Amino acid sequence: MSIMSLTAVELGKKIKSGEIGVAEAAKAALEEIRNCEEQINSYVTVLEEETILARAEEVQKQIDSGVLDSPLAGVPTAIKDNMCTKGILTTCSSKILGNFVPSYSAEAVRNLEKAGAVIIGKTNMDEFAMGSTTETSAYGITRNPHNKGHVPGGSSGGSCAAVAACECSYALGSDTGGSIRQPSSFCGVTGIKPTYGTVSRYGLIAYGSSLDQIGPIAKDVTDCATILEAISSYDKKDSTSIQREDLDFTSALVADVKGMKIGIPRDYFGEGLDSQVKAAIEKAAGVLEENGALLEEFDLSLVEYAIPAYYVIASAEASSNLSRFDGVKYGYRTGDYEGLHHMYKKTRSEGFGPEVKRRIMLGSFVLSSGYYDAYYLKALRTKALIKKAFDQAFERYDMILAPAAPTTAPKIGESLSDPIKMYLGDIYTISVNLAGLPGISIPCGRDDKGLPIGMQLIGDCFQEKKIIRGAYTFEQNRSKEQ
Ligand code: GLN
Repeated sequence: MSIMSLTAVELGKKIKSGEIGVAEAAKAALEEIRNCEEQINSYVTVLEEETILARAEEVQKQIDSGVLDSPLAGVPTAIKDNMCTKGILTTCSSKILGNFVPSYSAEAVRNLEKAGAVIIGKTNMDEFAMGSTTETSAYGITRNPHNKGHVPGGSSGGSCAAVAACECSYALGSDTGGSIRQPSSFCGVTGIKPTYGTVSRYGLIAYGSSLDQIGPIAKDVTDCATILEAISSYDKKDSTSIQREDLDFTSALVADVKGMKIGIPRDYFGEGLDSQVKAAIEKAAGVLEENGALLEEFDLSLVEYAIPAYYVIASAEASSNLSRFDGVKYGYRTGDYEGLHHMYKKTRSEGFGPEVKRRIMLGSFVLSSGYYDAYYLKALRTKALIKKAFDQAFERYDMILAPAAPTTAPKIGESLSDPIKMYLGDIYTISVNLAGLPGISIPCGRDDKGLPIGMQLIGDCFQEKKIIRGAYTFEQNRSKEQ
């Protein structure tokens, strides 16, 4: 078995026992990158081999001297390019940050480094995490490793493609409306969006601050639980960070769902859901039932309001968050201009791509004085109602089972011409962000083109352990073709 086809935890064990060296693992990742990066384009930046090997040597020493004991020590990883990495270019896949080298690292990245991670590079994404296909990147599209004519999903498409193509052992992504779960589903990998406030957002370049969460993307549930345990922490630098005492996520890696109640929202299985995706999800639900889970269909309600509410709130927050990119403090500045206002205008016109501009315009519109009550306030009220609907569901169920996306990965070039249709593809993921809940996407089959399908398990706030247990049980008991 080649080094890069091992899971992160398996590789970590071999590194710990001395069977594989840290530098050897890093070189194996670089070799995979050399083999397939030209076709896939998972990365915006791959670090210099010298830099990676210097870090590998440092980590190896700490492992050898017993200072580093984490299961992830020495394992090569990739970071989505919207997380600040000290001294490493961080572009958010935008031209406006094309020259931005942060002077500090995001807290989640620091936590990973403390656990001995060896960063290989920064992964491609939709510009400022706005999109569902990784086609809005200013640095070229990323291709789905399972079929290069299809998108990897988005916005964490680069991270998911890098894991699927074995160009790193695991990666970090961020999820504002599904950006970890949907591309995980499209690329056949596993990803967790944690409860809002579990992983610090310090150093994550903000899109919709009330929705954004960083999470792991990996080959299996064990890796995801292990990575989540490493990156989660209370951080006073993030005012929305939550002090939790139950961050021992790996304790939930138990293959047993006997007596657990799983709700299946009827409203998620109607019009718009691809029949092959539907069949795969139902089959996956059957595996959990055979293992003792109690399945029940129910009406979640309000599902049709989630997309409009999300796009109003996310765009409103984005328009405010992105006002800082003005060509003055850092990032791109236009060449020729006459006066300050002209400089702002030209810099932003040239620096942002069309999808980002669309969101800024939509966000500014819904926040403007005449429309605030009609749109923004209404969206906030809808968000509260959606949270209430989930609260009621979790009075009865331990978790909710759903598809991660209504279809498998679309063909490259099919999505951007019709943004509204693309937004509708977020139907199963965005309510989870609006309600601040945790969700996991786990591979559960393939369609007739061989494209992966993902099942989503959604938990109540702070109930990651339940969804990890559910996903782990499924993983241990699924059939080969799942
Ligand atoms: N597709 C959604 C959007 O474009 C979600 C993106 C995300 O989670 N970052 O906003």
